Amino acid sequence: MEVILQNLTKKFPGRGKKKQEEVTAVNNFNFNIPDGSLIGLLGPSGCGKSTTLHLISGLLTPTSGKIFFGEDDVTGLPPENRGIGLVFQNYALYPHLTVKQNILFPLENRKGKDRLSKQEMLSKAEEAARMVQIDGLMERRPGELSGGQQQRVAIARALVKMPKVLLLDEPLSNLDARLRLQTREEIRRIQQETGITTIFVTHDQEEAMSISDLIVVMKDGVVQQTGKPQEVYDDPLNLFVAKFLGNPQINVFQGNVKGEKLYIGKDAVLDIRDILGKDAGTEVPGITEKEVCVGVRPEGFVPDADGPFRCSLRGVEVMGRDISVVSENPAALSPAIRAVINSEHMSEIGSTEVRFSLLPHKVFLFDRDTEERIGFRGTQTEAVKK
Ligand code: ATP
Repeated sequence: MEVILQNLTKKFPGRGKKKQEEVTAVNNFNFNIPDGSLIGLLGPSGCGKSTTLHLISGLLTPTSGKIFFGEDDVTGLPPENRGIGLVFQNYALYPHLTVKQNILFPLENRKGKDRLSKQEMLSKAEEAARMVQIDGLMERRPGELSGGQQQRVAIARALVKMPKVLLLDEPLSNLDARLRLQTREEIRRIQQETGITTIFVTHDQEEAMSISDLIVVMKDGVVQQTGKPQEVYDDPLNLFVAKFLGNPQINVFQGNVKGEKLYIGKDAVLDIRDILGKDAGTEVPGITEKEVCVGVRPEGFVPDADGPFRCSLRGVEVMGRDISVVSENPAALSPAIRAVINSEHMSEIGSTEVRFSLLPHKVFLFDRDTEERIGFRGTQTEAVKK
């Protein structure tokens, strides 16, 4: 089922005696969610992810804008008539019911022509339980299950209705690190097996990047960028998106463009044309002389004894195959610069100084005032300007 969000806006009125300001939790959200895809809605706390999900579910009504499921305008429909499955962070299972009864619950509540026979209900419940691999636990109560198992019951309960759209609100937050990894892969598998259009809310960029077909990065109710995870990572529209995606985070420096060179401090680190492409350089308006913010991905540093970018070495952290070189530079906007390099380059690192060459496709320039990317072409990603 394709889901279309059209100019979707949600404002909450100010509350309390001192009438706080109205909050625009979702601001003019436009997006077509392709049928059968898994979408990761991503952003920091308070950016409007859950509100968006609740607008799609019908638990909230938009202040303006419309929601379509395929051809149908569902904006005014209550949640129970939208054909959705909802899974929350806190599982929300009925503690006094067994796993089987919890999964059967949405089917037992059906009325009229939608009502199924007992046998049909049981077979659907068993099928959903098998899909999330809890069919051996049907007679237990939620209190007798681990967190991961409880979340699977919640997913089975959402799946048993064969929803047109599955909505998952931070479903992995209460699980430990190993289980999170396992469960997120399971969600992907189930989604692919069922082909149900799924919208997954998380503040964890790694989680969203790893399983989503498309990600939507939000900030303060405004969609910043949408696209395939790798494409958004490789081609961020602004500094916020660049900083939000990636672990370790992108390194940010104060820089200057003079002539056709990019300087970080006194070091001329790259030719502008190499960063912005062969069509750029002096032809790009306003770029010949400009103070900029420079973002360098941790994998964009290559240790090189003759490299143009000089940093003071603080330490080296071994991460298995790769190592993380921690250094300092007066132009850096954070106390530590993190470069992730292959351990083969270890010999290039001095004892107090480390010099780097920078890979141009891992270096991004941003306007210091607007924080918009300079020279963003957005060829691969669908970017939504602020
Ligand atoms: P989190 O990751 O912390 O759950 P979120 O990205 O899901 O955050 P939302 O819950 O959608 O964010 O909230 C978006 C904004 O709307 C926040 O500023 C929040 O305080 C505000 N908000 C949410 N619900 C209400 C409400 N019922 N009344 C007033 N303001 C609200």
